[in-house]
Amino acid sequence: MEFFEDLMEAALDEVDPEISGLVAEELERQRVHIELIASENFVPRAIMEAQGSILTNKYAEGYPRKKYYGGCKYVERIEEIAIERAKKLFGSDHANVQPHAGTTANQAAYFTVMKPGDTMLAMKLDQGGHLSHGHPLNFTGMIYKIASYGVNRDTEMIDYDEIARLARECAPKVIVAGASAYPRKIDFARFRQIADEAGAVLITDMAHIAGLVAGGAHENPTPHSDFVTSTTQKTLRGPRGAFVLCRGKYASDLDRTVFPGVQGGPIMQAIAAKAACFKIASAPAFRDYANQVVKNASALAKELQELGYRLVSGGTDNHMMLIDLRSKKVTGKDAERILEEAGITANKNSIPFDPEKPTVTSGLRLGAAAVTSRGMKEGEMREIARAIDEVISASGDVEATNRVRSRMAEMSASYPLYRGMRGARAR
Ligand SMILES: *Cc1c(COP(=O)(O)O)cnc(C)c1O
Repeated sequence: MEFFEDLMEAALDEVDPEISGLVAEELERQRVHIELIASENFVPRAIMEAQGSILTNKYAEGYPRKKYYGGCKYVERIEEIAIERAKKLFGSDHANVQPHAGTTANQAAYFTVMKPGDTMLAMKLDQGGHLSHGHPLNFTGMIYKIASYGVNRDTEMIDYDEIARLARECAPKVIVAGASAYPRKIDFARFRQIADEAGAVLITDMAHIAGLVAGGAHENPTPHSDFVTSTTQKTLRGPRGAFVLCRGKYASDLDRTVFPGVQGGPIMQAIAAKAACFKIASAPAFRDYANQVVKNASALAKELQELGYRLVSGGTDNHMMLIDLRSKKVTGKDAERILEEAGITANKNSIPFDPEKPTVTSGLRLGAAAVTSRGMKEGEMREIARAIDEVISASGDVEATNRVRSRMAEMSASYPLYRGMRGARAR
């Protein structure tokens, strides 16, 4: 291969067949598996097109009209559009669309209002909170004092009275609302009231539910929160990335914290994809998607309950649910493995007051966003619930596994994914 011209024009499978082959295998896996990981989704091709674009070549440190580099005329416009769309979609005074990931978005919000040693009150990690809400190995656990709230032992729903009590006791600088594994609606007005009583800043991390909020299927935290942080890749169905919304009085402090505080140059191809994602999410069809996600989750939950599974908190109001597997005599870890073999992808997850270690767990987390994006409806959800039960009841017996895997592959095939993209041949 001629080094220069040929290399610049060559496709990935010519330059690096090994990686290209693995991407094709992964596409095949995505096509034939039933994807139930609650934080995952399938993005529209338009999102991939923006992310795979020539914007990757551009450095654009700083903010629109105040960029530190030349040649920013077009990327500046792209960022302005992304900001305007985010503000309009969620009804916010200000938006910063540069954070590379949800964890970085949280870092920016925390650094804007907290100093090292300050106290933050967030959800317990083993009851639904995220690593960036105070895990000892995360920067939050290293530099802040962490107080944490959980769910009520009987209802398994957020215990707002406990949050209010903890807030009075520890006088936190920040209260974080939001979770990675909580199947119920969150009462943001109540969080606002608790934060006001404690004189705390309320940061809502809506990473998991952002798509439901955009589509009107979950209450919008923005009017109640000082800051709202979110990823774009989960229910919102955009690129891997994040953004922060805030009240006007925090706007310039937040922007300074994102850049130059915790990041250098923004990833412009991701920002273009975020802009497209916000546009898609503000169209009427997105409301149908968000409502269908909730309907599908609810159908999956109901069928599982009818098959004798106990769901944490007794059900779901959003896109996800947690199965308590203890009565089925299987751990989360084993359930994850045997389902994967049967063509169903989900993840083990601690349940509240879990007797098992976080690496084993008694729970399984299931989400309905990705299967909804493929076009599946309530009928398929019931079939998936029966397939899950068949595999778990047979403890991963080879025949049952094979039977379910071919049924799931057949069902997937009726919902083609990325037609025209070349995948590896099915195994
Ligand atoms: C997924 C998630 C994040 C982090 O997102 P990354 O992009 O993986 O850093 C933050 N908060 C919550 C609640 C999440 O669920």
